[in-house]
Amino acid sequence: GGINFDNYDDIPVEASGEDVPDPIMEFTSPPLEELLLENIKLARFTKPTPVQKYSIPIVSKNRDLMGCAQTGSGKTGGFLFPILSEMFINGPLNVPDKSRNHYMRKGYPTALVLAPTRELATQIFEESRKFTYRSWVRPCVVYGGAPIGNQMRELDRGCDLLVATPGRLNDLLERGKISLMNVRYLILDEADRMLDMGFEPQIRHIVEDCDMPEVQDRQTLMFSATFPRDIQHLARDFLKNYVFLSVGRVGS
Ligand code: ADP
Ligand code: MG
Repeated sequence: GGINFDNYDDIPVEASGEDVPDPIMEFTSPPLEELLLENIKLARFTKPTPVQKYSIPIVSKNRDLMGCAQTGSGKTGGFLFPILSEMFINGPLNVPDKSRNHYMRKGYPTALVLAPTRELATQIFEESRKFTYRSWVRPCVVYGGAPIGNQMRELDRGCDLLVATPGRLNDLLERGKISLMNVRYLILDEADRMLDMGFEPQIRHIVEDCDMPEVQDRQTLMFSATFPRDIQHLARDFLKNYVFLSVGRVGS
């Protein structure tokens, strides 16, 4: 179940790590960019949820993050808002010449979000569409159990933020339709569910064996409802000097 928005201020939040930035109380610029603030208004989000109060300044300060929070706490905005703000400000990266070759077109996402299921990937994609309105950032979503041809045609039109399930992303990487060399932001959403579904080998292949920048050259955020040993191992391998955020009661 989701959280009750009438008293979500009561939800306890704990942040630990080196030099943890102070939480924000409102959606403001800085750290959030003006166009993003307009899109937040259009979505009628009046104030940040507890996880957003903490995660927005942490992610804005370019820190890696391990966030433990229950479903419905607003994690999607918690990572999308600071990342989109920075992308809006920085503008598009120059893509390699290869992508201009009609026969070799590829997506070169700046941000990659991995999610366990088609439903979750679609939800994150829909949020991304709302908050990228009138910006240069073009989001795409890919997942299994749907025709790959349509997804490849969407990627051909450009992909700056990619939301993907691990299996389908690997398929598209093997077909040469996506390059991860421009990824500056990597998000593993609902990491515990992805591991429960047996995706650890695919996730490790994506992060460790493709053209993803090394841990020091990207910002990595992991979210999980629980923090069992296998998630702790991924956090150790994928994150650098991370802030640990726990919201509400966290299982293990
Ligand atoms: P989680 O990923 O933690 O399960 P979501 O990011 O999906 O949570 O958010 C849960 C619901 O709350 C979504 O419908 C989302 O649009 C809404 N929501 C998130 N943040 C806010 C906010 N600051 N104000 C109002 N609604 C919000
Ligand atoms: Mg979520």
